[in-house]
Amino acid sequence: MAQVTCSFCGRNKKDVDLMVSGISAHICNFCIDQAYQILGEEEKTKKTPKSPKFKLKKPKELTEYLNQYVIGQYDAKKVLTVAVYNHYKRLLQKSNEEDEIRIEKSNIIMVGDTGTGKTYLAKTLARVLEVPFCIADATVLTEAGYVGEDVESILTRLLQAADYNLEAAERGIVYIDEIDKIARKSDNPSITRDVSGEGVQQALLKLLEGTVVNVPPQGGRKHPDQKMIAVNTENILFICGGAFDGIGRHIARRLNTQPLGFNKMYEGQQVDRSNLLQYVTAQDLKSFGLIPELIGRLPVVTHLDPLDKEALKSILTEPKNALTKQYIKLMEMEGVNLIFEESGIDYIVEKAMEYNLGARGLRSICEAIITDAMYELPSDDTIKELTIDAKYARQQFDKSKFKKLQVA
Ligand code: ADP
Repeated sequence: MAQVTCSFCGRNKKDVDLMVSGISAHICNFCIDQAYQILGEEEKTKKTPKSPKFKLKKPKELTEYLNQYVIGQYDAKKVLTVAVYNHYKRLLQKSNEEDEIRIEKSNIIMVGDTGTGKTYLAKTLARVLEVPFCIADATVLTEAGYVGEDVESILTRLLQAADYNLEAAERGIVYIDEIDKIARKSDNPSITRDVSGEGVQQALLKLLEGTVVNVPPQGGRKHPDQKMIAVNTENILFICGGAFDGIGRHIARRLNTQPLGFNKMYEGQQVDRSNLLQYVTAQDLKSFGLIPELIGRLPVVTHLDPLDKEALKSILTEPKNALTKQYIKLMEMEGVNLIFEESGIDYIVEKAMEYNLGARGLRSICEAIITDAMYELPSDDTIKELTIDAKYARQQFDKSKFKKLQVA
């Protein structure tokens, strides 16, 4: 008769206390013990929450990084970096369940004119963060059932940013741009449904509050047979931004009409009428048309300063990847030494102010001025240097189609 041996370790039946026989294999008591231990280890790793993988970056470190790219906007930088830092700390706390004091997340709302750097701040922040990050546009969102994107599409994007790692996505950061565009059109709630406004605010509210949302992993409309991923938004940090055109009127009205007691804050301190946004509060957002529940879920309000000539000049020349540096690099690759003279820079800034496009205008004005050179020089070996002064800039700008483009 054949010897009975353990199919796992090969021990002989006579060398073990017990041998259990299966259909075509045997297992000894030593191997059963060992297997049992392995099972226990497995269970333990499943139960202990994995500590989130990220490097804690302090607000000042984050600001230092932002400063290399984004000019000014110190208030917004401070508020954003503190919020992100606290978000990290909150995530660390999550893995320590016994703590009685639970840190709540503080979603943020940024108010600032178009082209002052809201999206750029969010994007730059995204680069330095080691949590998944995505940018969504509030204007494309609609209430479920209407043509357009459901609010869940935001989470699809976050999942994609996290490479479908659910755990990572659930501690990510979402930037929602143009939040002002979903404001209620008047202060009175309308009886008819407001497809693009209040309904979307209500839908967003659920995400911001923290809830489990079934998300179609590939995006698109939901349909019955689609496989869904359940995403919990409790630990996702939401940052919203918008220009809130005309909110200055609400701020000014509030500053003038508030009972004296509340106005004390500005006593002895002139209200700076050229930059009313710096006084923005939740109350103004409500007057503008955001519903109180949504404002309640965005407890941190910050503003971006309008960009003056000095700021535009710095944006054009100082950041690590400033526009002028980019053009110089492009020309260098053609063997051409491109020089921006002070007068040329001033001309570009003046035009950007004139067209009131914020920093966004700088790019199109530069293009209008330099396109001819970028077209001609690669085929012309004789030119080794090009200087952009006020005269050259004006001459190029005047013959460009810029003005026409601006009208269109
Ligand atoms: P918005 O406030 O409308 O979201 P953006 O962030 O899209 O404005 O800004 C448009 C572009 O202008 C950015 O891509 C960036 O190149 C430039 N820009 C705007 N503000 C700043 C700033 N404060 N510092 C550096 N560049 C800026």
